[in-house]
Amino acid sequence: MPTYARFPIVLTKGSGAFVSDIDGKKYLDFVSGIAVNAFGHADAKQALAISRQAKSLLHVSNLYYNVPQIMLAEWLTAHSFADRVFFCNSGAEANEGAIKLARRFAKTIDPNRFEIITAEGSFHGRTLAALAATGQEKYHKGFEPLPAGFKYVPFNDIAALEKEIGPNTAAVLLEPIQGEGGVRVPDSDYLAKVRALCDRHRLLLILDEVQTGMGRTGTLFAYEQTGIAPDIMTLAKGLGGGFPIGALLAKEAVAQVFTPGTHASTFGGNPLASAAALAIVKRLTPAFLKGVKKKGDLLIKKLTALQRKTDRIKSVRGMGLLIALDIQPTAIEVIEKAQKKGLLLSKTSEQTVRLTPPLSVHLEQINRAVSILAEVLDVKA
Ligand SMILES: *Cc1c(COP(=O)(O)O)cnc(C)c1O
Repeated sequence: MPTYARFPIVLTKGSGAFVSDIDGKKYLDFVSGIAVNAFGHADAKQALAISRQAKSLLHVSNLYYNVPQIMLAEWLTAHSFADRVFFCNSGAEANEGAIKLARRFAKTIDPNRFEIITAEGSFHGRTLAALAATGQEKYHKGFEPLPAGFKYVPFNDIAALEKEIGPNTAAVLLEPIQGEGGVRVPDSDYLAKVRALCDRHRLLLILDEVQTGMGRTGTLFAYEQTGIAPDIMTLAKGLGGGFPIGALLAKEAVAQVFTPGTHASTFGGNPLASAAALAIVKRLTPAFLKGVKKKGDLLIKKLTALQRKTDRIKSVRGMGLLIALDIQPTAIEVIEKAQKKGLLLSKTSEQTVRLTPPLSVHLEQINRAVSILAEVLDVKA
């Protein structure tokens, strides 16, 4: 259905940070399937894990245990604040689960609690409740009535959040960095202040790390850089490195309110998806993540240097390899010109270009991307 304004490009194969189209044109891929392909395209280790798993067990439903799912759950709980994991198939679905879990938990404190406060400019997915949680009117248009129980406050404004908390408030749902909202990085103490507010009012803090998680910002999860931890976290995008899988994580006391029959997914965490994700997460070692941070810092530094030489770049921001540029006059013009020169980029708004290379991107690929951008913007690099 016509839900996408697609580029007239048919991609047929890839290798690492490169993809090729049906006419044989090669592109350096700084979209990575929208912050998904952590190790680029046709990653040999993941391809092997997927093919091995496909030859033994694809799917069994969650009426039974399966080994890759157990191993993935163990890995995720060992490497995060969480004690429990629920597997699903996408970011929106993970957030739907988070909303249900938060409501059910809040009712154990006070049966009147159901409201979830989210941020203006946020993005939480396209299913109805995730859409209602999304604080951007343009996405709501024409789909009303949306599920009730969501309130929006300006992002990075602790006073506004405090004012909105009332007797019906159940939880606060935020992205540590707003991805689709334009790579908005809040003040470094914002999330700690939100955590303190949540604790004072006995509210759950839900972090949507669908885009920021799995190493994208230079740590496994973005919350690690804020000194606090959430009660609930959602993951998807980078988790499967290109294989569709999502996850909902929570502390034991919260997860406890889900009992058999309260939430489910036929496909969630099936052996193939779990094996595909395991092949990714195992390689997100501290040393690898340090490299992500270094490469991100370097890319931001190079883009900032570019900004000094042109008034067409209004701002450069980001963390790790989640980076955005505000561009004059339009992002699409830069994206289309870069495409012609063999560099794929995405946009989050009319003026904002986003760069999300594979986490495994090489230094010379970063240099090449920056020099293509310099050409596109008529800047001597
Ligand atoms: C992409 C995204 C989602 C939605 O994920 P889907 O897999 O497309 O449903 C939710 N939250 C955030 C922060 C995202 O970036």
